[in-house]
Amino acid sequence: MPALSLENYKELQEKIGYYFKNIKYLETALTHRSYKNGGENYELLEFLGDSIVNFLVVDFLVENFPNYKEGVLASIKAYLISEEFLSSISEELEMYKYVKISGRNKFISSSVLADLFEALLGAIYIDSGGDMNQLKQLFFKKYGDRMREVVEKELYKKDYKTLLQELTQSKWKERPVYRVVSVSGKEHQRIFEVECSIKEYRAIGRGRNKKEAQQEAAKRVYEMLQSA
Ligand code: MN
Repeated sequence: MPALSLENYKELQEKIGYYFKNIKYLETALTHRSYKNGGENYELLEFLGDSIVNFLVVDFLVENFPNYKEGVLASIKAYLISEEFLSSISEELEMYKYVKISGRNKFISSSVLADLFEALLGAIYIDSGGDMNQLKQLFFKKYGDRMREVVEKELYKKDYKTLLQELTQSKWKERPVYRVVSVSGKEHQRIFEVECSIKEYRAIGRGRNKKEAQQEAAKRVYEMLQSA
């Protein structure tokens, strides 16, 4: 694996629009735990960055869409902090080019890509001495238009069955299977239980109809895969 020169970091910092006082933070943000150099990896910065993204997204939504109902804002937020959205930002910054991960030719999953962006925000926060205002300016300026597009084109409105299918197709080229496992309760008060499974992952969802139960089961499996 070629040594990463400061030139590489210069290119990335230009793309981000932030120049580190202490480049070590950026280096840590780009180091996966599999990379055994005896140094630090990005986990702690990612932990911090996860909260920062949450906050910045909510701040953006409240500032730009104050008339939306809280429930709608919650769905938009869920999308904007999702692996799908954050990994697309990370891809755009070509963060995979700079990451230190063992097995150089290994496929870098979208979950790692999303983590990298979170870790980057954590690193900027620390490096700037906790300057949330600067981070906010940077984030809104770079991603404001994309976030606005998500809201205006309602890109966040995908349902979990669709989300899950997209995920499993891209991961394994397979679709999840749904199976009704039980129907109980009196007529007009039926409770459906549907199992959703793909590979070794399975979960049961309940609902007043098959569709509702499928959605809940899909959501559970989707969340399992996201944290897998
Ligand atoms: Mn993460």
